[in-house]
Amino acid sequence: MKVLLLYPKFPKTFWSFKYALYFIDKKAAFPPLGLLTVASLLPPGWEKKLIDLNVRSLDEKSIEWADFVFISAMDIQKESALEIIKKSRKMGKRVVVGGPLFTTNYEEFLGKVDCFILGEAETALPGFLSDLKKGILNNIYKCDSWPNINEIPIPSWDLIRIKDYASLCVQFSRGCPFNCEFCDIVILNGRVPRMKDKEKILIELEILYRKGWRGNVFFVDDNFIGNKAKLKNEVLPALIEWMKEKKYPFTFNTQVSVNLADDKELVEMMVRAGFTTVFVGIETPGEESLRGCGKMQNVNRNLLESVKFLQNCGLEVQAGFIVGFDQDTSTIFDRMIRFIQGSGITTAMVGLLQAPAKTRLWQRLKKEGRLTSQTSGDNTDCTMNFIPKMDQKSLITGYKKILNNIYSPKDYYNRLINFLKEYRPKKKRRYKPSFADFRTFWRAFWILGIREKERNYYWRLLFWGLFRRPKLLPALIEMAIKGFHLRKVSEKYLH
Ligand code: SF4
Repeated sequence: MKVLLLYPKFPKTFWSFKYALYFIDKKAAFPPLGLLTVASLLPPGWEKKLIDLNVRSLDEKSIEWADFVFISAMDIQKESALEIIKKSRKMGKRVVVGGPLFTTNYEEFLGKVDCFILGEAETALPGFLSDLKKGILNNIYKCDSWPNINEIPIPSWDLIRIKDYASLCVQFSRGCPFNCEFCDIVILNGRVPRMKDKEKILIELEILYRKGWRGNVFFVDDNFIGNKAKLKNEVLPALIEWMKEKKYPFTFNTQVSVNLADDKELVEMMVRAGFTTVFVGIETPGEESLRGCGKMQNVNRNLLESVKFLQNCGLEVQAGFIVGFDQDTSTIFDRMIRFIQGSGITTAMVGLLQAPAKTRLWQRLKKEGRLTSQTSGDNTDCTMNFIPKMDQKSLITGYKKILNNIYSPKDYYNRLINFLKEYRPKKKRRYKPSFADFRTFWRAFWILGIREKERNYYWRLLFWGLFRRPKLLPALIEMAIKGFHLRKVSEKYLH
């Protein structure tokens, strides 16, 4: 059997980091970890090819070669997924699809593909494989129980060129103990976090190390701190030892809930293990909106203080923000701008509220007759899939005002300086710039320092860094590059 695994294209959104990739000479931000794992679940005798359309284009010869085309996608990849489904079916290939896009909304694709693998492939795929053997394929294969993620095979890294990616990925856990109204994680991965043992995580990291990878590794967990006790007692101590022994070959980043700031010991352990960045769902400075969407871990706390605490401990905080909650009033836009500027969160991903299929929010809006369409998966494209309480035109105007402010060179670079004043990273080893670093600095010099109209802000930032925090210059340039990306993406929506 010959299987072609396809990963659809991401449009240019905040998450794609497309405009930043040129500076570091990479083709995509992250590899398709899910598809690489699916490849390992297929029988060893099968031939497999993987094409990540974010790295190279899809040629007809590859489709021609395959007996089956497997596609995994998130909502944001829908357009590209539909295109390759159509192309493959036109060429007479059997198409099997899975991943969040299809799991939460397979009804939309009925009749367009041959088989759905819904939910986690580890439990859904065996049914497909055994039916295939018997020659009686069904249309839908569903995961009926949460798999033990310790038993998940090692991803088939040999199917991709790891150097094409800005960061590699591992997964420690699935699921999140919280239940925010707009989030589909609970439907996809459950509320009881399932975790890998320390031995399994170390094996996965060792494989990346032996493949010669040096750089960032993203823990793709829904909420890395879903089980703090296991982290503190088992996984982090082992990770700290392993990193020390290997002389710190990696830096780590991950996604966490803001209650990480309540546990100093855990934060310090994460920093000692090599975590440098965390993405936090802050969502909004409006307490009523946080209560309304059930994000109770964010209420009754000073969110700004939580962010500053994490920064002081040596973590860069990136965060997601949302406008469009039923409780939002016309003051939310200015409050959001003030909060983001004051927080020093440079990578601030602000989006309009969307109701992904089957979420609690989607169910409620459906009952209230306010749903208008399926989500586009892009919460920054100034579209909404429901009727908001606030007048939609005012909401989008206010949203654009936020984008216009927080990503403008003046505000972005001021925020970056605010952040650097708080940031206390723990240096593990001496920084030695590589040839690739010099190339990145040169490109930043040329694009941000010469070509950009508002280059004076970049130079002001550089001089500030040079005199006040010279050791942080590489980090400062990296964040200036991310700011360029965020600005370019937002311009798309503003003009
Ligand atoms: S904390 Fe994050 S992952 Fe967990 S339910 Fe809320 S939004 Fe989803």
